[in-house]
Amino acid sequence: MKRRNFISKNLAMGALIPASCASFGFADHKSEIQEGSALTGSDVVVEKLSEGQPHKGKNLAVIQAHCDDIPFFAAGTVAKLIHEGYTGYLIRTSNDEAAGIGSSTGERVLNNEIDNSDVARVLGLKKTYDLGYANHRMDEYNIQEIKGRLIFLFRLLQIDTLICFDPWGPYEENPDHYITAKAVEAARWMAGMGTDYPEQLEVLKPHTVTEMYYYARGPQIVNRIVDISPFVDKKVESLIACKTQGAGGNNGAVLRKALADKGKKISVLGNDDNTANFNYVKHFVLDVDSERLRGVPSDKKSGEKYGLEYAERYHYIGPIPSKIDEFIEKNATSK
Ligand SMILES: [Zn+2]
Repeated sequence: MKRRNFISKNLAMGALIPASCASFGFADHKSEIQEGSALTGSDVVVEKLSEGQPHKGKNLAVIQAHCDDIPFFAAGTVAKLIHEGYTGYLIRTSNDEAAGIGSSTGERVLNNEIDNSDVARVLGLKKTYDLGYANHRMDEYNIQEIKGRLIFLFRLLQIDTLICFDPWGPYEENPDHYITAKAVEAARWMAGMGTDYPEQLEVLKPHTVTEMYYYARGPQIVNRIVDISPFVDKKVESLIACKTQGAGGNNGAVLRKALADKGKKISVLGNDDNTANFNYVKHFVLDVDSERLRGVPSDKKSGEKYGLEYAERYHYIGPIPSKIDEFIEKNATSK
């Protein structure tokens, strides 16, 4: 099947098509898959900050292939859910050896590991697990091994909810992203079965992950908009923590200096390096240049349509409550 037809057929149900399609070669599909053709309006749930800590006692797995994935795509929601009471754990599947600053593989691995721990600290996550698979080469591993390790962690940590790349997104170029997503989606339900990896059950209990927030680049089903307005600064901080790769780090200060060397300045970068770095991420990475730097629409634009200042977009899958009790209540008669 031609890619064009495949995408058209499979998304006719109505994905929200981000403007970032253009940068990923989807520009000519815009007329076929109109934004808002289906999963909009009442089909989209807008999730806002809850009062108190409704998630106290629940566990959240924040899963990324690389240290900058969650900061780029989902850090606002992570910060919100932690604020609402979740205990969070950061699982990073690759060792990030192919990206970032460092003259040797070992140096890059170490620099990314330090940044990854810092991302966890900024977002209030309790512990990090680095699975250490070779960067950009995760498609060469046997997926049973990755699933087995994830199932172990989901059972060990009794994970209720997870955030990860969308295994059902039709476009993703990075094998670490889509292999991680596929392994996570299989592992999260198998973890609840007493017949999969049964030797683990001599020391652990089965536990199914029942809520998933999936993010993606390129076309994606979007059925949940999370209001991250109170947490956007935390998201910015998590991106700045990615010093060795990503679009955060010292980029604002570098741009400010480059402009100064030419006798120019832009007020958004302020008068010192810290302000420049912070505002560079908030203004350019998350908004003005989002499509080029992240491959997703601006967080401001994602929120605008729903009356929110900043928002993140998800393909959310949650538990479906049983209707049997309601049916029995309505229909049961005396014997
Ligand atoms: Zn990545």
